[in-house]
Amino acid sequence: MSAASRNRFFIIKRILLAVIAAIFILAAFFAFRIFSRNLSGALSGDRSFPEQLKTALYWSSAGSGKVQCWLCPRQCLIPRGGRGFCRARKNIQGKLYCLTYGQPVAIHLDPIEKKPFFHVYPGTRSFSIASAGCNLRCKFCQNWEISQLDPESVKVDFVLPEEIVRQAKLSGARTIAFTYTEPTVFYEYMLDVAKLATIEGIPCVMHSAGFINPEPLRQLAPYLTAADIDLKGFSEKYYSSFCEGSLKNVLESLKILKEKGVWLEVTNLIIPSANDSDQDIRSLCSWVKDNLGPDTPLHFSRFFPMYKLADLSPTPLKTLLKAGQIARDAGLHYVYVGNIQEDAGEDTFCAVCGKLLIKRAGYTVLEDNIVEGKCKYCGAKIPGVWN
Ligand code: SF4
Repeated sequence: MSAASRNRFFIIKRILLAVIAAIFILAAFFAFRIFSRNLSGALSGDRSFPEQLKTALYWSSAGSGKVQCWLCPRQCLIPRGGRGFCRARKNIQGKLYCLTYGQPVAIHLDPIEKKPFFHVYPGTRSFSIASAGCNLRCKFCQNWEISQLDPESVKVDFVLPEEIVRQAKLSGARTIAFTYTEPTVFYEYMLDVAKLATIEGIPCVMHSAGFINPEPLRQLAPYLTAADIDLKGFSEKYYSSFCEGSLKNVLESLKILKEKGVWLEVTNLIIPSANDSDQDIRSLCSWVKDNLGPDTPLHFSRFFPMYKLADLSPTPLKTLLKAGQIARDAGLHYVYVGNIQEDAGEDTFCAVCGKLLIKRAGYTVLEDNIVEGKCKYCGAKIPGVWN
């Protein structure tokens, strides 16, 4: 081989080596990009990657890439890339995912009286969690800043159910509460937390609007010790115009929880000129007594101007006191009137001897005369879940 040929051979060899090296460097660069993108997605809980999301329960394919959600009575038909009415469930590539799994926007240690539960472990703390989103549109929502958000618009840390249970235990909470917003929109998360908490011996409680389909509610019920359900009014007209919901579904949920042995308390927020007629209140009380029993605690709550009803006045004291009287006349034994300065509105009295059992001031229990679930004075069994 001549010297010129040898030179050409070496030049071609070097070019080939350079090309191979360039291809290798480029391949390594892209591999690193893909790896780091997935890693950061995993670490930050970035929900733009389907693999970081939890597949939803209760849905089916509806053809042409659409899915139908069966979790709540809306039964949203969701096109590819779209999300449900609650904003918390999204169709990604023809599958339904929940955007709220592991994404608590609120974690607080609250008095259980704040939920409100008055017949469940009085004077104890409840480890309380919520996510963004809601499947109703109540014009008077107290938590609208989080309930009416797209879940991914709030930057929160990903928290596994195991971590919620671990933190609850560390905090000394007696219970874990699903509350603040509507727990139905973080159903899968709630279910996983509740299952783990049950194994660890921590009772779970839920404050909900009860706007959920029967099957998912039945699946959840064995892991709930107690539920406080907002019975927002007692007419379909009220539910549809003030909440975009429906009364009949809520009544069905209440009956299911009762049938499943979940301790029930009911809350009714009375709004002037909206749901405050004597007739509505009487019908609500009679329904509670006939279907859930006279021992079901009923909480009347005072409305304050809020959100889309900022122009209304607070509920007059006399309306609340009258509601309390209507409930007692209807035969309910445990009636509470909240958010008022009246002394005895939130105290518990024995339905048999009439003596004071629990004295409360705000969320604080000042006196508790229930011993092993019985009235200290007459020995009558007091319905509830006691310490
Ligand atoms: S849970 Fe959400 S997506 Fe499912 S039906 Fe209800 S509003 Fe629609």
